[in-house]
Amino acid sequence: MSIQGDFQKPREENRREGGIKKETLEGLYRAFSERLGEKALRREAPLWEHVSFRVGGPCRLMVFPQKEEEIAFSAELCRQEGVPFFILGRGTNLLPSDEGYEGVVIKLGAGFDGIREEAREGSLYAQAGALLSSMARAALERSLTGLEFAAGIPGTLGGGVVMNAGAYDGQLGSLIRQVRTLGTDGKIRCYSREECGFSYRHSIFQDQKQNEIILGASVSLLPGETERIREKMEDFSRRRSEKQPLSFPSAGSTFKRPPGHFAGQLIEEAGLKGLSVGGAMVSTLHAGFIINQGNAAARDIMDLILLVRDTVADRRGILLEPEVKLLGWEETPW
Ligand SMILES: Cc1cc2nc3c(=O)[nH]c(=O)nc-3n(C[C@H](O)[C@H](O)[C@H](O)COP(=O)(O)OP(=O)(O)OC[C@H]3O[C@@H](n4cnc5c(N)ncnc54)[C@H](O)[C@@H]3O)c2cc1C
Repeated sequence: MSIQGDFQKPREENRREGGIKKETLEGLYRAFSERLGEKALRREAPLWEHVSFRVGGPCRLMVFPQKEEEIAFSAELCRQEGVPFFILGRGTNLLPSDEGYEGVVIKLGAGFDGIREEAREGSLYAQAGALLSSMARAALERSLTGLEFAAGIPGTLGGGVVMNAGAYDGQLGSLIRQVRTLGTDGKIRCYSREECGFSYRHSIFQDQKQNEIILGASVSLLPGETERIREKMEDFSRRRSEKQPLSFPSAGSTFKRPPGHFAGQLIEEAGLKGLSVGGAMVSTLHAGFIINQGNAAARDIMDLILLVRDTVADRRGILLEPEVKLLGWEETPW
């Protein structure tokens, strides 16, 4: 995805007062670098570099674990030190605040992105940091059908499970055989598809009390014809590039589809296409997308989301629910 714009840099004046004590941070940094090595750490990492909206201030520390044991170590260390942590995939469904995040971001991606075939026919297992597009490609290479819809979704498997990502004729939840997680007690668990409680853009992993880290998942696919699979992927990809503002930073559809309606259509009918707050704008190509025109602050995007939601509620009596997740905001306005 090539992205246009002159993106916002983290702004020093946005830093919050107080926060994690300096000694605690130094101790954390030392413990992390002994276990993961300094290359797997970044202090004051600018979140805007790690999210598709291209906004957001710094987090105190970002760590890049590459093994299950390193993820378990990272989460446990933060818990022991009483420092909040957040699991980040590709940041394609996330709006971090301009102030950033007063905690540790554990980013799962490169190095924790293996995909392998399982003994059971038609089953692929992927680590949480694997891209959904890579999984779709792996399925195509094996002439397995079912994952075509995922080829153009820019997130990771972990984020896809949490969000029950879907498009066109499919959603990830329907293909899941098992999800492997790490719980707050440090124990590894396996959830069957039924236990994941998948519904439209929802899984139990979004519920705060669950608090599980997705380590990986296996999906069940069916044998298919390579050419047909390829054609379907190409068709979906063509439709995306025609209808979606892919050259601007966004988080995909900003709102969930309300029952019986399409969010984009409701927003367009309310006359909100092209509406902007600061550098954030309701896309003129697809009203369901809020885009960063290049210089948006996270606050602009948040204010525009709320303005769109309230206007549609006033004009149509339908309350749109944002799909995008938040990080580092003092209040959650929805
Ligand atoms: C251009 C564009 C098009 C898009 N099209 C679609 C689409 O067609 N369909 C669709 O469903 N979505 C779409 N999206 C949204 C997004 O790609 C999906 O929601 C995706 O599943 C998010 O994955 P991620 O890795 O980026 O998650 P992130 O944004 O990094 O995280 C999302 C949430 O999941 C949590 N999380 C991530 N990984 C883990 C883990 N391993 N363990 C526990 N929690 C975790 C995070 O803490 C956060 O709460 C689109 C986004 C963009 C930018």
